[in-house]
Amino acid sequence: MPLSKKRIYEIARELGVSSKELIKKLEEMGMPGLKAANSVDEEESALIVHLFEEETAAADKPTAKTEPDVESVEKPVVVTKQAPKKTAKPKRKPASTHGSVRPPIVSVLGHIDHGKTTLLDAIRESHLASKEAGGITQGIAAYQAELNGQKITFIDTPGHKAFTGMRARGAQVTDIAILVVAADDGVMAQTVEAIDHIKAADVPIIVAINKIDKANADVSKVISDLAQHGLLPEAWGGDTISVEVSALERKNIDELLEMILLVAEMADLRADPKNPVEATIIESHLATGQGPVATVVVRDGTLRVKDWAVAGAAQGRVKALLDPSGNRVNEALPGEAVSILGFCDLPEVGTQIEVTKNQGQAKKLAQQYQRDQRPQAAPRARTLDDLFAQKEETAKLKVILKAASTGGLEAARREIAALDVEGVELDILVSGVGGISESDIVLASTVNEECLAIGFGVSADPKALKLAEREGIPVLLYDIIYHLVDEIESALKRQLGPAYEERAMGTVEVRNLFKAPSGMIAGCYVADGRVERRGLVRVIRNNTEMFTGEIASLRRFEDDVREVQSGRECGIRIRDFNDIQIGDRLQVFVLEEVER
Ligand code: GDP
Repeated sequence: MPLSKKRIYEIARELGVSSKELIKKLEEMGMPGLKAANSVDEEESALIVHLFEEETAAADKPTAKTEPDVESVEKPVVVTKQAPKKTAKPKRKPASTHGSVRPPIVSVLGHIDHGKTTLLDAIRESHLASKEAGGITQGIAAYQAELNGQKITFIDTPGHKAFTGMRARGAQVTDIAILVVAADDGVMAQTVEAIDHIKAADVPIIVAINKIDKANADVSKVISDLAQHGLLPEAWGGDTISVEVSALERKNIDELLEMILLVAEMADLRADPKNPVEATIIESHLATGQGPVATVVVRDGTLRVKDWAVAGAAQGRVKALLDPSGNRVNEALPGEAVSILGFCDLPEVGTQIEVTKNQGQAKKLAQQYQRDQRPQAAPRARTLDDLFAQKEETAKLKVILKAASTGGLEAARREIAALDVEGVELDILVSGVGGISESDIVLASTVNEECLAIGFGVSADPKALKLAEREGIPVLLYDIIYHLVDEIESALKRQLGPAYEERAMGTVEVRNLFKAPSGMIAGCYVADGRVERRGLVRVIRNNTEMFTGEIASLRRFEDDVREVQSGRECGIRIRDFNDIQIGDRLQVFVLEEVER
């Protein structure tokens, strides 16, 4: 059995030190560190524990009363069994010039129905760091969990919204990504998508193999699926950490949190409350009676009540801060998530908060941002058809999709993703739960390509509608998913124009030629079918197509006629084509409009 990161974590816990310290110690002792740890077997790992204990015990005695020099503070503090783990923590991480360790910020991703929401609920229920205020359900987009006195901040909007949506805006909020894979379903399309996004973001990944309580759970299939996508689990000699859990039965949740803490420890996430504030808006909405409410995750510095804050084009003074449980707090420290009240406008998701000295500076920065972001003055589409009328060959269309619930959102996403109209590339830029907000429209207006906002079972904020009108961004609201799909589909089709199919009418042989003032007239014999005046002709010479065009005139003797049946002779002039020759054959056909 290889010594995995998990085992290192266990040994470290046994010894009451951090995994990082253990690894460092192992390296000092000439033992393989984490990189080579996979080749260490159980026996050797037992020896490591033994050696470590001996070493630390020996180190303990002579230096017991001496002043610790700088070096020994940096070195692992010797924590033997008599010292409780918790009190050892602050000692181990002395506030240095590098700041102190901050809680990791974690996002949960995975295929629909694999249990992201259930997992977030399970963690929230069992490990919430602060108590809920007087039964108020906050519905805030993040919360903080706690295990053994260590905190973890979860971004509580499962799926791609928080992760990819924000990355699209250039913000990187997440430190660690949890990839949820249902053991009864395996790696699915959105799992692969999530893996791609996580890899692109270069964020450490922990796989939560969920639903292991199910009778048809097949963990080894999940593992081999994962291996095929470059995530080789530790159990197979790779370095992807995976934890088997049941979100529904709350099984192994602690173990998952421990692994998060382990990965966080390796990543050595540091911050200093004294640093300038570094925080990202992860969600914003207009609350009745409260105005704009924005949820931020602080990565560095301290955000305080009464700070002047700017987030993109929005600015204001922090009137109040609410923690994820709805309690009023005075400040938010690194790694913490809070809701901010006091912005004058709705901040855009993904924008960074900047704290300024005064109101003047805040306003100036916000205006500056607005100027920089303003789209070019080119007229934009007003309706779906206008939008498409501007397009030529391949149309690219970005969609902002909002829905009333996660379930509705996923259903709408699925339907839209399944839309397949030739010549159109449809791309969901951002999707989320909630009404169409001003920030959605701001986002749409900053996109280079044409963008469209779709609400499914939700309404649009009046300010959003006004802005959309000004920016020429179509806002489409639907209550029934199929109406949404039908409408988009038919709009896409309208854009492409109707589809036509050729229907053959007859074949004609050219037997004579006559020069007329209007052009060359072919004296023809209708070999089969018929010729109609409204028909189109394709000129075939030696089995090669020479020309295709309209019939300019169709005559029988001196008379213009509407049609000539097979076995008869007629005169045909083809519009814009005088190079007709004896022996040519004409295929006569009409174009009929068909459903695309
Ligand atoms: P999401 O779409 O990824 O957020 O998935 P949900 O959390 O909504 O879960 C989808 C379904 O799977 C729900 O019916 C859950 O009750 C169920 N589910 C989630 N986790 C587990 C689990 O560990 N075991 C079982 N048996 N069912 C689960």
